[in-house]
Amino acid sequence: MVLNLEEFKKFTPKKKTIAVMGKPIHHSLSPILHTEFSKETGIDFDYIALEVSPDEFPAALKLAKEKLCGFNLTMPLKQTVIPYLDEADKEVTLTQSANTVVINNGRLHGYTTDGVGLVDALLLKTETLKNKAVLILGAGGAARSVASALVASGVVVSVAVRSEEKGKAFSSILPCNYVLFDDIYDKYDILINATPVGMNDDDLPPIDISKLQRLTLVYDCIYNPPMTKLLRDARDSGIAYDNGLSMLVLQGAYSEQYWFSADISNAVIDSIMRKLRASQALARLAEVHGKSNIVLTGFMGCGKTTIGKMLADAIGFDFVDLDEKIESEQNMKITEIFSKYGEEFFRKLERNACQDCTNLKHTVIATGGGTVIRSDNAEILKKNSLLIFLNKKLDEIYRNLEGSTNRPLLMVENVHEHIRSLYEFRQPQYLERSELDVTFPDGAEPVNEILLSI
Ligand code: NAP
Repeated sequence: MVLNLEEFKKFTPKKKTIAVMGKPIHHSLSPILHTEFSKETGIDFDYIALEVSPDEFPAALKLAKEKLCGFNLTMPLKQTVIPYLDEADKEVTLTQSANTVVINNGRLHGYTTDGVGLVDALLLKTETLKNKAVLILGAGGAARSVASALVASGVVVSVAVRSEEKGKAFSSILPCNYVLFDDIYDKYDILINATPVGMNDDDLPPIDISKLQRLTLVYDCIYNPPMTKLLRDARDSGIAYDNGLSMLVLQGAYSEQYWFSADISNAVIDSIMRKLRASQALARLAEVHGKSNIVLTGFMGCGKTTIGKMLADAIGFDFVDLDEKIESEQNMKITEIFSKYGEEFFRKLERNACQDCTNLKHTVIATGGGTVIRSDNAEILKKNSLLIFLNKKLDEIYRNLEGSTNRPLLMVENVHEHIRSLYEFRQPQYLERSELDVTFPDGAEPVNEILLSI
């Protein structure tokens, strides 16, 4: 529920109620996040969103003291709240920024959970932060909170700033070095983007990470879009990466501790992260891409069927495998169709199957390896489906196809060489016809990579 100030005046809470305040607020994931926490922990409360500007904040605060037991703050209110707090956590005093407030008998106690949330999020991606050199891009509210928590964990932190003045101001508050964006050099292990650069799909990365050869992890505090250009660069360079969704969920878990003394397990955190990534991908599928299905394409053995089933399960979609659909309609294996009627007959059946897919909704469709090599099939599928290319390396394809007996195109001598030349011929065509190209860094969870890319 999103209320403006006038609507909040008329609002009567039915049970314990928490709110997130800020402007703009419509795209905040906090209401979904805390509703999930409530379901998982069994703590019964409502969580609403309030659209409040800095001018409206004093009036909203007066009402909050009557109607709420706590609230979160987002841009641009994290600093606005400071003079109104009756008590402030040490980190809040240091960083002059609060994102969580507990209301107790009309008194306000402010906390900041962004920094500790981010430290936990980094630890999901790296075993230790000990002896790591961390560079934070930006010196605003998030950077202060993050730097403060990292320094408290014993990490050496530098911030990248646009002016000497900003750098000096930052270093006077927190024991961090500063560097101007133009002077960044190669001595960092972990890079954190705490600027808003990347929030627009067409933003360039805030820095060129090829300058930083030592990097082992890139974290972007932005989670919408899920895959900023900075994260794409990290992925393409084989560097571990993550977006700000994990920080959002983990900072939310700390807020729950302050409001309700809730102890939230890692399993709950993991399950909520998966749900939020899935619901964000579904929203982007419809709103950004204007599509209602997902089509997976790529070379035989790239995992279209296995990954497709897992993806459908994660996002609550149906699953259709085009080859299986054709086999069940013809009551015959594909190898048999090929040997009895020839490849061209099979391709006609495949075209009809693609056409049928235009009537589907909320479905993940796994295509055959040759389906979109016919460009008209790709055009038919793209009418209402997002065409995603699962771009696997050749050595992985070799491994996956070992011992395969049900693929007519592999019924040849010198299979190894045949696979290689077919792979080289088809890969550029998948790339050209698909709307998204997903690669899979070692150890990556395939469904997660796809959800991040949508
Ligand atoms: P902020 O207080 O406005 O600070 C932004 C910082 O970025 C400032 O230091 C600003 O520099 C710098 N900056 C802006 N544009 C830049 C550019 N083009 N090049 C270099 N630096 C630039 O914002 P914030 O509250 O810290 O938030 C920063 C980002 O973190 C936002 O995208 C926000 O959504 C995200 N965030 C995520 C979470 C989460 O839970 N995932 C939590 C908090 C924040 P100047 O001072 O020179 O203008």
